[in-house]
Amino acid sequence: MPRQTQIGLMSHAELVSEYETQTANYAKLQTEKLTLDLTRGKPAPEQLDLSADLLSLPGSGDYRDATGTDCRNYGGQQGLPELRAIFGELLGIPAANLLAGNNSSLALMHDVLTFALLHGTADSAGRWVDEPVKMICPAPGYDRHFALSQSLGIEMIPVPIGHDGPDVHAIAALVAGDPQIKGLWVVPNYSNPTGVTLSEEVARELVSMPAAAPDFRLFWDNAYAVHPLTDLADPVLDVLGLAAAAGNPNRPFVFASTSKITFAGSGVSFLGGSTANLSWYLKHAGVQSIGPDKINQLRHVRFFKDAEGVRAHMQKHRALLEPKFALVLRILEERLGPSKVASWTEPKGGYFISLDVLEGTAARTIALAKEAGIALTAAGSAFPYGKDPEDKNIRIAPSFPSLTDLETAMDGLATCVLLAATEKHIG
Ligand code: PLP
Repeated sequence: MPRQTQIGLMSHAELVSEYETQTANYAKLQTEKLTLDLTRGKPAPEQLDLSADLLSLPGSGDYRDATGTDCRNYGGQQGLPELRAIFGELLGIPAANLLAGNNSSLALMHDVLTFALLHGTADSAGRWVDEPVKMICPAPGYDRHFALSQSLGIEMIPVPIGHDGPDVHAIAALVAGDPQIKGLWVVPNYSNPTGVTLSEEVARELVSMPAAAPDFRLFWDNAYAVHPLTDLADPVLDVLGLAAAAGNPNRPFVFASTSKITFAGSGVSFLGGSTANLSWYLKHAGVQSIGPDKINQLRHVRFFKDAEGVRAHMQKHRALLEPKFALVLRILEERLGPSKVASWTEPKGGYFISLDVLEGTAARTIALAKEAGIALTAAGSAFPYGKDPEDKNIRIAPSFPSLTDLETAMDGLATCVLLAATEKHIG
């Protein structure tokens, strides 16, 4: 009789034998004394090297943009028009509706939420903070979105995210029925961590659905807008145009940055919105700062030249990232395919692979990996309040480690997944 490979179908004797095999594999893994890290979606040093020329741009004597602005000085709150034109083209947003900021889009998200809480939005009757505030959080999602909401005292309501985006029917019902729901986190392209891109149909629903709160907002975080891993890039939807056509021009706040394009720590962030939303933002941001780092923006203009320059640059990233994603997928298939204790996403872009292990074993798998020197994002971190209701999701970030380290880490992780699953079945 052929050996049973599906752990869920094994007899007790087969399970015991599998358990012994995986325990031995794990003991061997521990002797390797690894220190590997699959936690954060950081660009690898080779990816940062692609933008090395930025370090010597714009160069001494080059400090004026095309309009003659002296970028060394204060001012220019909305950011350099040339840079806004380049990224406006990529994001499908008119340059006039785009702001270029400093290095972190997360900081812009923090600003927008804080300004809304303390001052109300362009459509608010009052300050958000005077009432309980809730946000809908498609999960698994980006842990820092959830940390941000939590730190500002915003209640988070999880909704499932499927193969074509978040569950719009669940969202529409929630948003229509509760005026305390003021926002929705959404990563429209190659989402973190499931890699899903929203369909235009879902986007249309999100911009047009009736909301009990007149100042309901979409936090449209397009962090991976230009980050395909295949020849056919997913389209970037004109969410501002769709929202305006649906009669809700102020609903979306669009965020993006060059963190995964140039230098993660020294890039440029972007905020897109209706004229009313941008004026609202600029009014409050003008109190906070007398303008962004325009020299860094000029450096980015000189480096890319135009939108095609960005696209060509992203192909260089792809060349470095694609083999890493392929390696992870190969090891998952080889090591976990036959046992049928896990499933995973096969993203066409972005930075993550989302691994679902046997229900009730993610925390144990992550603990086993940690003991063996393989660091993974904490169990439950892709869920609001860090609570994965089924304890099964693990986010894999393949970008940073070298191919050799990635192979070792993934092989070790597979052993931990199998050991945890076998333990669970033995009971
Ligand atoms: N948004 C998403 C969905 C991300 O995955 C990340 C980084 O991993 C960020 C935002 C961070 O953006 P920034 O570096 O511009 O603050």
